[in-house]
Amino acid sequence: MVNSIYTNKEIFLRELISNASDAIDKLCLLALTDPSVGLRRSDFEILLAIDKEKRTLTVSDNGIGMSEAELEENLGTIAFSGSANMREKLEKAEGAEDAQLIGQFGVGFYSAFMVADHIEVVSRRYGEDEAHRWSSDGAEGFSIEPASREKWGTDVILHIRPDGEEKDEYSRYVREYPIYKLVKKYSDYVRFPIRMLLPRPKELEGSTPEDPKFEEVYEYETINSMVPLWKRRKTEVKPEEYNRFYTETYSDETVPQKVLPISVDGRVSYDALLFIPGKAPADYYSDAFKPGLSLYSSGILIQDRCEELLPDYFNFVRGVVDSPDLSLNISREMLQQGRELKLISEHLEKKVRGELEKMLKDDREGYERFFKNFGRQLKLCALEDYGAKQDQLQDLLLFWSNTQKGLTLLSEYVSRMKEDQKYIYYASGDTIEAIDRLPQTEVLKDGGYEILYLPDKMDEFIADMFRKYADKPFRSVLDGDLGLTPPDKKDEALYREGLDFIQKTLAGRVDEVVASARLKSHPVCLSSGDGITFEMERYFKAIGQDMPVKARRILEINTDHPAFGAIDRLMTVDPDKAKKYCEVLYNQALLIAGLPIEDPSGYTDMLCSLW
Ligand code: ADP
Ligand code: MG
Repeated sequence: MVNSIYTNKEIFLRELISNASDAIDKLCLLALTDPSVGLRRSDFEILLAIDKEKRTLTVSDNGIGMSEAELEENLGTIAFSGSANMREKLEKAEGAEDAQLIGQFGVGFYSAFMVADHIEVVSRRYGEDEAHRWSSDGAEGFSIEPASREKWGTDVILHIRPDGEEKDEYSRYVREYPIYKLVKKYSDYVRFPIRMLLPRPKELEGSTPEDPKFEEVYEYETINSMVPLWKRRKTEVKPEEYNRFYTETYSDETVPQKVLPISVDGRVSYDALLFIPGKAPADYYSDAFKPGLSLYSSGILIQDRCEELLPDYFNFVRGVVDSPDLSLNISREMLQQGRELKLISEHLEKKVRGELEKMLKDDREGYERFFKNFGRQLKLCALEDYGAKQDQLQDLLLFWSNTQKGLTLLSEYVSRMKEDQKYIYYASGDTIEAIDRLPQTEVLKDGGYEILYLPDKMDEFIADMFRKYADKPFRSVLDGDLGLTPPDKKDEALYREGLDFIQKTLAGRVDEVVASARLKSHPVCLSSGDGITFEMERYFKAIGQDMPVKARRILEINTDHPAFGAIDRLMTVDPDKAKKYCEVLYNQALLIAGLPIEDPSGYTDMLCSLW
């Protein structure tokens, strides 16, 4: 909490620096159009000065400056209209909302009152001789008096508040290092130098490696980098530079898997630098994870994490977007900017997707590594809203294939389908090995059909949600009908009596008993038919769903197996024993399907009584 309050207060510096940068921009423009001004870009700078004794922080610029009327107009009327109301809101608002409010009300300058209890602005308009001092304690009002300033430009002098209960709450703003950090964080890419006196160790005379002697000297240093990495041409940036930027910005030592420098000139112009991380952040799949790209407007940070720039399913992407077509107070002109953000986000989505597709084609191993990190996010989003994002995601998902002995795309599966094959077969279970042992997979394997093995619960839900891929329906091998020729079920007339006996014995526990054509070596299996599958039944049980969700239980019997022969023979001569055999078959089927045996001790007792 403390942190988030800081985060919101600290944006005041960004606001003041951006005003200074705007003011310089204006004079730059004037210099461009009027040669008599005689100023060059390199003449401009923003200075930060700390006076610890007076407890002031001053932001100065040599930009256009303000006349008396402008001071009154810009810092007086506009900023303070409805200021009482504004202040009330600020005090009530907590956490992230503060910053948003500041944006919404367009009171960039006013935000400085979050850290200062008194502000003076000394300004001299370019081309005028007099300077003026505007001063205010906040919402109560302001005064303007004549002042002097050597040259044109503006000094904004903040009298920093005393610390409250929290240690260093405001004092941090009259210390070099925290200010330096804030400039780096929010204003690193402002296009004019931001300079500040910083303490540097200077070696003293007589200092030796054995006996080093240093003194601290203050020197002016330019803090900001000015030309951001994403503004430089990608052919001129070394891969190490991108990687170093990534590591420094995101505190992640793992080299990013992909770096995407993007530069667009069009209806909305922007530069972006995106990264696909080399590993998922530790908190990625938790609520603590905060997605979003940093959004800049001409080098000034507007939003730390703008979530609107990429769809949820690509929220693992880190990076920055910088567009001159966005104004600083992004929420103020929400409607208009909404459109620009939307254009950018659509374009970024395509870029990321394109990169992933390229990886799928050229670097399959790399894609599988990516999928291990972030495939779960793609799957979660594929499931959202009943599979509404199927089109966007289905060609990025990988599933385990029994014939490929590895991961496959659905498009690849479909391209390998046999001519007579109606369905995309899948089987779910706890592990690949357990699934491979399912008797229901036998007949398909014998016929050389490919089956997707889905050990991840989510995979089965995806199959269920998608229903089809490229017009081919998904079908669980645990379902009744596999659509094979010859058909799954045999002509049952031959075995009717035996099947009926089993059905009667297991009445209330199985819904149907059928002669299966798909079992080869196994005597029995359980299938669920269309509808709820066993996996879902187990899932809903696990999450403690109130209403019991139960799959249909169809007991499929291998009528060629000696076990069925025995029941068929015994049901007339020793019906008690035949009934016990039925129990054995049923319980075996439950076990194979991964369902609990209903009465384990009764079952083992019964088994032993067979000897
Ligand atoms: P915004 O920057 O969105 O206009 P602010 O509250 O940040 O709103 O600033 C209000 C106005 O005050 C600016 O539009 C500008 O005209 C004037 N202003 C603020 N700081 C400076 C400065 N350093 N130099 C010149 N004008 C300034
Ligand atoms: Mg401003």
